[in-house]
Formats: sequence, structure tokens, C-alpha cells
Amino acid sequence: MTERIFNFSAGPAVLPVPVLEEAQRDLLSLPGVGMSVMEISHRSKTFDEIIGRAESGLRELLSIPDNYRILFLQGGASLQFSMIPINFLPKDGSADYVLTGSWGKKALKEAKKAGNVNIAATMADGGFTRVPGNDEISLNPGAAYVHITTNETIEGVQWKHEPDTGSVPLIADASSDILSHAIPVDKYALIYAGAQKNMGPSGVTLVIIRDDLLPRIPDGLHTMLDYRTHVENNSLYNTPNTWGIYIISLVTKWIKDKGGIAGMGRENDEKAQLIYDAIDATDFYRGHADADCRSTMNVTFRLPSEELEKKFTSEATAQGLDGLKGHRSVGGIRASIYNAFPRAGVEALVSFMKEFERKNG
Ligand SMILES: *Cc1c(COP(=O)(O)O)cnc(C)c1O
Repeated sequence: MTERIFNFSAGPAVLPVPVLEEAQRDLLSLPGVGMSVMEISHRSKTFDEIIGRAESGLRELLSIPDNYRILFLQGGASLQFSMIPINFLPKDGSADYVLTGSWGKKALKEAKKAGNVNIAATMADGGFTRVPGNDEISLNPGAAYVHITTNETIEGVQWKHEPDTGSVPLIADASSDILSHAIPVDKYALIYAGAQKNMGPSGVTLVIIRDDLLPRIPDGLHTMLDYRTHVENNSLYNTPNTWGIYIISLVTKWIKDKGGIAGMGRENDEKAQLIYDAIDATDFYRGHADADCRSTMNVTFRLPSEELEKKFTSEATAQGLDGLKGHRSVGGIRASIYNAFPRAGVEALVSFMKEFERKNG
């Protein structure tokens, strides 16, 4: 077998080896079917069972209540930036956006094209190092919805509790921390996530939407942009990403086998803590996010100079620690350690950090 390296990429990201192995084993012919999952009709009984397993797997792992629909769409989380305001921001209304990083800014940009938006809070001034406290968010009680990004993938800033939005529907982009820890789904009206960080391959986007939102959608929207189309057709109005949905079904089974979301959350906390401890142990490394908002999925930090950061990533790559370069917009180092990222890789990074400091500090 070809050796696998430690893949710290922010996305598309590492997938569980048992999932890749099962997909490989059944690639040419699904057991009892005689065809590849990529060759079967999305309207076949076999695919019906696959999408059913993906849905029930997610429902069970996240304890998604019955009054929420689960959709598998295309266009990435980026299309959700537009679909949400197109469906839920009325012409005479306004929506609240809370900005804790780069992805929230992109969501805001699209909402502005659809209607009135209010920036309820922005952490841009501090360089997006934390989430706001409830007293720092100026919510409009008449807002159509409040939008947050549960984990800002680029800055490594994560909400640890939902903001209190009263009766205003809370909508969240959870692309980079969905399935990483337990969340109270009933506090959200809509949760969306591109699959390629923590759930599967790119090209499929999960949307979890509460029933009572659907009557708010105006008539006359383009069919594909109207959430009701996808609810009414069980995500099969057009041909979905059948391969992506299949992989999601395997990933949910893998998480269940590992002890569910609670077990996953514990493992993620421990993995992240190992790196944050290494950062805090010295002045050589400086964490980007404030301690109480640190992401368990994307660990961001700086070295004393950009020169050293370059040296760090290139020497790490040479040792099989790949994808550690921070996003081009913020620089520094980013270690993305999603569910499938092995603890051994985290330990390897921590030893590399200590050794690198000893030689260059
Ligand atoms: C990666 C990411 C996106 C963009 O996802 P696409 O599927 O590429 O559109 C949006 N939001 C967050 C938080 C992300 O991490």
C-alpha cells in the first residue's frame, strides 16, 4: 500500500481510512448490485437506501428533531450564502449578521444583494480573534433571521455556545465543525455545511431546516433556488451528488462505531489541547484566537517572523506533515485537525514544533 502522510488541509480534508477502504472495496460493484455507486440511478431502490442511511445517520448523531428536514444540495456552502437571503430575507425586512471571520463576511456580501442587512456585531477590528459576548451584539428584534458562522475555518475562531437571539431564527454556517461535537439543533432554524471539511467529499452541502421556515419563502423563486423544491423532492429534484451522499453515509456509520458525537467531541478536545498546550508553553509560538474561542478544528498560530513560518511549513512538509500553511489572507500556520485526523498526526506535529523551536528559537 502507498503510505499516507498527515494531511492538515483545511478542505477538502482528510477522510477516515476505514471509509476510504470500504469505498475502495465496493467501488466496482456494490454488494448484491453489480454496479458502482457512481453508475446507479439516483431513483433506484439502492440509492434510496443510501440516501436514507445518510439521513438517518445524521439524524441519530446530531439528535435532529422530527420537525427538521435534511437536504443534500449542491453549490457548496457558498450557494447557501445566496439561497438563505433569497428565501428568507423579505423585501421590506432586514437580517442580522454576526461577523467572526472571513466566511461570515462572504455570507454578508451575498445577503446585501438580496436586501437590507444589519451587522449585529463584527470582530474585524481585533483581527477576528474571538466571538462577541451577548452584550456586544446589537440584535434587531424584528430581524428575519440572525446569521453566524459556528467555526471560522480561516481564523480558527469557534462559538462555544449559541448567542441568544430570542424568537429570531438563528441560521448557522457550520461547514467546518459540523459533527465535531454535540450541538442543540433545536436552537437553530437552519444549519448548513459543505461536506468537504468534516463529512465527505466536496460537491454536496448539508442543509438542516426547520419546517416552520418553509411558509416564509416567497413564491416565484427559481425552482432550484427554492428550498421547498428540495424538501418536496427529498433532495432528488435534479441529480444529486450520489457519490458524496454515499460517502456521508459511510462517515456517519464510522462516527457511530467510534462512540457517536460525544466520543468524537472528547477526542477532538484532546487533540486540539495537545497543540494549544504546545503553543502556550512558549513565547516562540503565538495563538491567533483568544483562549475561550479557540477552534478545536482549525488551530491557527504565528511564529516570530514570516521567514520562520515559511521554513516551518517547508520543513514540516518534508517530514510528511502537509497543508500547514495558513490561509493566504491571514498568513501564519493553520493545523486543520478534523474528526478523521489521527491523534498520531497531532503528536507528530507537537514533537516537530518542539524540535523546530529548539533549532530556531
Ligand atoms: C469551506 C467553507 C465555506 C465554503 O464552502 P464551499 O463548499 O467551498 O462553498 C463556507 N463556510 C465555511 C465556514 C467554510 O469552512
